[in-house]
Amino acid sequence: MVAHCILNINSKVYGIATEPAGCRQIVSGLLDNGFGIIQLPCVEQSCFGINRWGLVKNQLDFPGFRSKCYELLKPVVEQISDFYKNGYEIAAVIGLDGSPSCGINYTCTGNWGGEIGEGYDLQSKISSLKNLSEYGVMMEILSEMLSKAGIFTKFLSVDESCPEASSQELIAKLVE
Ligand code: SF4
Repeated sequence: MVAHCILNINSKVYGIATEPAGCRQIVSGLLDNGFGIIQLPCVEQSCFGINRWGLVKNQLDFPGFRSKCYELLKPVVEQISDFYKNGYEIAAVIGLDGSPSCGINYTCTGNWGGEIGEGYDLQSKISSLKNLSEYGVMMEILSEMLSKAGIFTKFLSVDESCPEASSQELIAKLVE
Protein backbone atom coordinates (compact mmCIF):
# COMPACT_ATOMS: atom_id res chain seq x y z
CA MET A 1 0.00 0.00 0.00
CA VAL A 2 1.55 3.29 -1.02
CA ALA A 3 0.59 6.89 -0.29
CA HIS A 4 -1.46 8.22 -3.18
CA CYS A 5 1.07 10.84 -4.28
CA ILE A 6 3.86 8.27 -4.73
CA LEU A 7 1.92 7.15 -7.80
CA ASN A 8 0.30 10.50 -8.58
CA ILE A 9 2.25 13.48 -7.32
CA ASN A 10 -0.50 15.82 -8.53
CA SER A 11 -2.51 15.20 -5.36
CA LYS A 12 -0.03 17.30 -3.37
CA VAL A 13 -0.71 20.90 -2.45
CA TYR A 14 -0.66 22.73 -5.80
CA GLY A 15 2.83 23.83 -6.77
CA ILE A 16 4.95 21.74 -4.38
CA ALA A 17 5.55 18.64 -6.52
CA THR A 18 9.25 17.84 -6.62
CA GLU A 19 9.10 15.89 -9.88
CA PRO A 20 6.59 15.11 -12.63
CA ALA A 21 4.06 12.28 -12.35
CA GLY A 22 5.19 10.34 -9.28
CA CYS A 23 8.10 8.63 -7.58
CA ARG A 24 9.20 6.34 -10.40
CA GLN A 25 12.20 4.92 -8.47
CA ILE A 26 9.91 3.43 -5.85
CA VAL A 27 7.19 2.32 -8.21
CA SER A 28 9.58 0.55 -10.58
CA GLY A 29 11.58 -0.85 -7.64
CA LEU A 30 8.43 -2.41 -6.19
CA LEU A 31 7.26 -3.89 -9.50
CA ASP A 32 10.74 -5.17 -10.39
CA ASN A 33 10.88 -7.00 -7.06
CA GLY A 34 7.49 -8.66 -7.38
CA PHE A 35 5.32 -6.41 -5.23
CA GLY A 36 1.85 -5.46 -6.40
CA ILE A 37 0.81 -1.92 -5.50
CA ILE A 38 -2.37 -0.60 -3.92
CA GLN A 39 -2.73 3.19 -4.02
CA LEU A 40 -4.05 4.64 -0.77
CA PRO A 41 -6.51 7.55 -0.94
CA CYS A 42 -5.33 11.15 -0.64
CA VAL A 43 -7.68 12.20 2.12
CA GLU A 44 -6.40 15.78 2.13
CA GLN A 45 -7.40 16.23 -1.51
CA SER A 46 -10.77 14.61 -0.81
CA CYS A 47 -11.47 17.06 2.00
CA PHE A 48 -9.75 20.24 0.87
CA GLY A 49 -8.87 19.90 -2.84
CA ILE A 50 -5.65 20.72 -4.64
CA ASN A 51 -5.71 24.41 -3.70
CA ARG A 52 -5.46 23.72 0.03
CA TRP A 53 -2.75 25.35 2.10
CA GLY A 54 -0.11 23.15 3.66
CA LEU A 55 -1.50 21.77 6.93
CA VAL A 56 -0.18 20.31 10.19
CA LYS A 57 -1.34 17.22 12.05
CA ASN A 58 -3.11 19.01 14.92
CA GLN A 59 -5.32 20.84 12.39
CA LEU A 60 -6.44 17.53 10.90
CA ASP A 61 -6.88 15.62 14.11
CA PHE A 62 -10.60 16.28 14.48
CA PRO A 63 -13.60 13.92 14.25
CA GLY A 64 -14.79 14.92 10.77
CA PHE A 65 -11.37 14.35 9.19
CA ARG A 66 -10.87 11.08 11.05
CA SER A 67 -14.31 9.89 9.86
CA LYS A 68 -13.33 10.68 6.28
CA CYS A 69 -10.15 8.62 6.72
CA TYR A 70 -12.23 5.64 7.94
CA GLU A 71 -14.65 6.03 5.06
CA LEU A 72 -11.94 6.20 2.37
CA LEU A 73 -9.80 3.45 3.90
CA LYS A 74 -12.65 0.96 4.42
CA PRO A 75 -12.63 -0.47 0.85
CA VAL A 76 -8.83 -0.61 0.89
CA VAL A 77 -8.76 -2.58 4.13
CA GLU A 78 -11.49 -4.89 2.79
CA GLN A 79 -9.38 -5.57 -0.31
CA ILE A 80 -6.25 -6.13 1.77
CA SER A 81 -8.17 -8.49 4.06
CA ASP A 82 -9.23 -10.55 1.05
CA PHE A 83 -5.62 -10.83 -0.16
CA TYR A 84 -4.48 -11.71 3.35
CA LYS A 85 -7.14 -14.37 3.83
CA ASN A 86 -6.03 -15.97 0.59
CA GLY A 87 -2.40 -16.23 1.62
CA TYR A 88 -0.85 -13.14 0.09
CA GLU A 89 1.94 -11.42 1.96
CA ILE A 90 1.00 -7.88 2.96
CA ALA A 91 4.50 -6.48 2.60
CA ALA A 92 4.22 -2.89 3.81
CA VAL A 93 2.51 0.44 3.98
CA ILE A 94 4.67 3.17 2.43
CA GLY A 95 3.96 6.71 3.55
CA LEU A 96 5.66 10.07 3.26
CA ASP A 97 7.53 11.57 6.18
CA GLY A 98 6.53 15.05 7.22
CA SER A 99 2.97 14.74 5.95
CA PRO A 100 0.21 15.52 8.48
CA SER A 101 -1.79 12.63 7.02
CA CYS A 102 0.76 10.16 5.64
CA GLY A 103 3.88 10.66 7.81
CA ILE A 104 5.43 7.53 9.30
CA ASN A 105 8.67 8.40 11.10
CA TYR A 106 7.52 11.94 11.65
CA THR A 107 4.67 14.28 10.89
CA CYS A 108 4.39 18.05 11.46
CA THR A 109 2.80 20.17 14.14
CA GLY A 110 2.54 23.82 15.17
CA ASN A 111 0.29 26.72 15.99
CA TRP A 112 -0.83 26.88 12.38
CA GLY A 113 -4.10 28.25 11.07
CA GLY A 114 -6.20 31.40 11.18
CA GLU A 115 -5.55 34.31 8.87
CA ILE A 116 -2.54 35.58 6.98
CA GLY A 117 -1.94 39.30 6.97
CA GLU A 118 -1.04 42.23 9.13
CA GLY A 119 -1.97 41.76 12.76
CA TYR A 120 -2.01 37.98 12.63
CA ASP A 121 1.62 37.42 13.65
CA LEU A 122 2.49 35.09 10.80
CA GLN A 123 6.14 34.93 11.89
CA SER A 124 5.32 33.37 15.25
CA LYS A 125 3.11 30.81 13.51
CA ILE A 126 5.94 29.90 11.14
CA SER A 127 8.37 29.66 14.07
CA SER A 128 6.04 27.23 15.85
CA LEU A 129 6.20 24.63 13.05
CA LYS A 130 8.15 21.50 13.91
CA ASN A 131 8.42 17.80 13.25
CA LEU A 132 6.72 15.35 15.57
CA SER A 133 7.80 11.69 15.84
CA GLU A 134 4.36 10.23 15.22
CA TYR A 135 2.33 8.86 12.34
CA GLY A 136 0.15 11.29 10.39
CA VAL A 137 -3.60 11.08 11.03
CA MET A 138 -4.50 8.77 8.16
CA MET A 139 -1.62 6.39 8.90
CA GLU A 140 -2.70 6.17 12.55
CA ILE A 141 -6.16 5.17 11.42
CA LEU A 142 -4.89 2.73 8.79
CA SER A 143 -2.67 1.06 11.38
CA GLU A 144 -5.63 0.73 13.74
CA MET A 145 -7.92 -0.66 11.01
CA LEU A 146 -5.32 -3.21 9.85
CA SER A 147 -4.69 -4.32 13.45
CA LYS A 148 -8.42 -4.81 14.00
CA ALA A 149 -8.47 -6.96 10.86
CA GLY A 150 -5.59 -9.02 12.31
CA ILE A 151 -3.08 -7.75 9.73
CA PHE A 152 0.31 -6.61 10.97
CA THR A 153 2.74 -5.17 8.46
CA LYS A 154 5.70 -2.81 8.20
CA PHE A 155 5.10 0.93 8.03
CA LEU A 156 7.91 2.45 5.97
CA SER A 157 8.41 5.84 4.38
CA VAL A 158 10.02 7.64 1.50
CA ASP A 159 12.39 10.57 1.78
CA GLU A 160 11.40 12.65 -1.22
CA SER A 161 14.51 14.79 -1.05
CA CYS A 162 16.66 11.82 -2.19
CA PRO A 163 14.30 9.42 -3.98
CA GLU A 164 17.01 7.23 -5.51
CA ALA A 165 18.77 6.35 -2.23
CA SER A 166 15.51 6.27 -0.34
CA SER A 167 13.90 3.82 -2.74
CA GLN A 168 16.94 1.52 -2.68
CA GLU A 169 16.87 1.53 1.12
CA LEU A 170 13.15 0.89 1.15
CA ILE A 171 13.29 -2.03 -1.30
CA ALA A 172 16.17 -3.53 0.71
CA LYS A 173 13.96 -3.45 3.82
CA LEU A 174 11.16 -5.19 1.93
CA VAL A 175 13.24 -8.04 0.52
CA GLU A 176 15.39 -8.68 3.60
S1 SF4 B 1 -2.15 13.56 2.06
FE1 SF4 B 1 -0.77 11.84 1.73
S2 SF4 B 1 -1.26 11.19 -0.38
FE2 SF4 B 1 -2.10 13.25 -0.13
S3 SF4 B 1 -0.50 14.57 -0.88
FE3 SF4 B 1 -0.21 14.41 1.33
S4 SF4 B 1 1.29 12.74 1.57
FE4 SF4 B 1 0.46 12.60 -0.51
